Amino acid sequence: MKAAMYYSLDNILIENLPVPKIGPQEILVQMKACGVCGSDLMEWYLKNRVPLVLGHEPSGIVAKVGSKVKGFEVGNRVFSHHHVACLTCDFCLRGDYTLCEQFSRTHLEPGGFAEYFKVPKPNLEVDTLKIPPDVSFESATLIEPMGCCLRALNKAQVHPSDSVVVVGAGPSGAILTLLLRLFGAGQIIVTDFIDYRLKAAGKLGADLLVNPEAESIIDVVKKATDGKGADLVIVTAPNVNGFLTGMELCRRGGTLCIFAPTRPEDFVRLSPNRLFFSEIKLLPSYSTSHVETRIALNLIQTKKVDTTNLITHTFPLEKTAEAFKKAALNKECVKVVVSNE
Ligand SMILES: [Zn+2]
Ligand SMILES: [Zn+2]
Repeated sequence: MKAAMYYSLDNILIENLPVPKIGPQEILVQMKACGVCGSDLMEWYLKNRVPLVLGHEPSGIVAKVGSKVKGFEVGNRVFSHHHVACLTCDFCLRGDYTLCEQFSRTHLEPGGFAEYFKVPKPNLEVDTLKIPPDVSFESATLIEPMGCCLRALNKAQVHPSDSVVVVGAGPSGAILTLLLRLFGAGQIIVTDFIDYRLKAAGKLGADLLVNPEAESIIDVVKKATDGKGADLVIVTAPNVNGFLTGMELCRRGGTLCIFAPTRPEDFVRLSPNRLFFSEIKLLPSYSTSHVETRIALNLIQTKKVDTTNLITHTFPLEKTAEAFKKAALNKECVKVVVSNE
C-alpha cells in the first residue's frame, strides 16, 4: 500500500509499505480522508521519531475485522482516535484522560496518511465512532481537532457574553471561533498575520479581525473591552510571542488558555507578583479524549456548527508533501485534508 513517509517538513515521500496485519481484536480501515494538524508541522516535535507516517485525524471504511471484534463490520464508515486513555488509572478517574500514561503510547498503525491503517484494541474499544451516512469522510476528519477545541472551552468555562481573543487563526483558531459562537461568547477577536485566515475567521463569526502588522492587537482589545482586557485569551500560536501577547491581552482575573506547545527550549520570564495581583489563570489544554470526540461528531452531524467553510484545500494521498507545504509555508488555507477517494 502507499503511505506518505515523513522525514522532515520538506521531505515527505510516497513509499510502499505492507498492509498492516490485524489481530483478533483489531480492525483494518481503508483511509478515505485525514486532516493535516498543526502538530504535524512542528519539526521539533517530530524530529526524534522520524521517519514516520503521520496523520491522526483520519476517517475511512472498515476493510477487515478481527475474529473477536464485536460491533463493527466490513463496510462501516468510521473515525478512529489515535490516542486513547486506559479509563482506570488515577488520571483517568479524575477525568484527566490526556494525561493518562497509556494515552500518548497508543496510536494508529502506521498513521492516517496511508491507504490503510490498523486500529488497535484500545483505540477500537474506546474511541472508534461510526460516521452517520449524512456526514462526509472529510467532515469526519474534523472530529479530533474539534474535540481538542471543545476540551479547551469546557475547561475555560466560557460564559455568555465573555469577550474572547483567539491568537492564531489556523485550523484550531477557526474551529474555536465557530464553537465560541455556539458557547455564547460575546465579542470574539481573532488575530493572525495571514489575512486569508483572518477573512475566514470573519466568515465563521469573529467580530474583530486584527493583523498585528497593520494595527496593535493590544490597542484593539483594550478599546473593545473598555480598557479591561479580554475575559479569555486562547493562544493557538505555538510560540513564545503568542503567549506573551496573550498575557498582555488578558484582563485581571481572566484566563489565558495555552492551546499549543512551544519548543521545549523556549522559556518566558513570568512574575509571580504580577500573576498573584492580577489573578490571571493559566490554563493549558492538551489534545482531546473520547468524551469530546462524541460531542464533536454530534455537533457536526446535527449541524449545530457549520463546518462547511473549514476545509479549504484537499490533496490526494500521493500529494501529501504538497498538502504539508500548503499548510506550513503558504498558509493561505484553513484546514488542509489529504484524501484517498
Ligand atoms: Zn491534531
Ligand atoms: Zn488512564
